[in-house]
Amino acid sequence: MRVAITLACTECKQRNYMTTKDKKKNTDRFEVKKYCKFCNTHTLHREIK
Ligand SMILES: [Zn+2]
Repeated sequence: MRVAITLACTECKQRNYMTTKDKKKNTDRFEVKKYCKFCNTHTLHREIK
């Protein structure tokens, strides 16, 4: 079962990415390093509600 999630930059709080995750495998809040065009660098992006 996959659910759609939004990833937001933890630095500037911009919502940069939409993705999906496996709800059974990833029960914790999803975090990934991605490029943020607002910060102009790679930052940690976190799942938001
Ligand atoms: Zn950012």
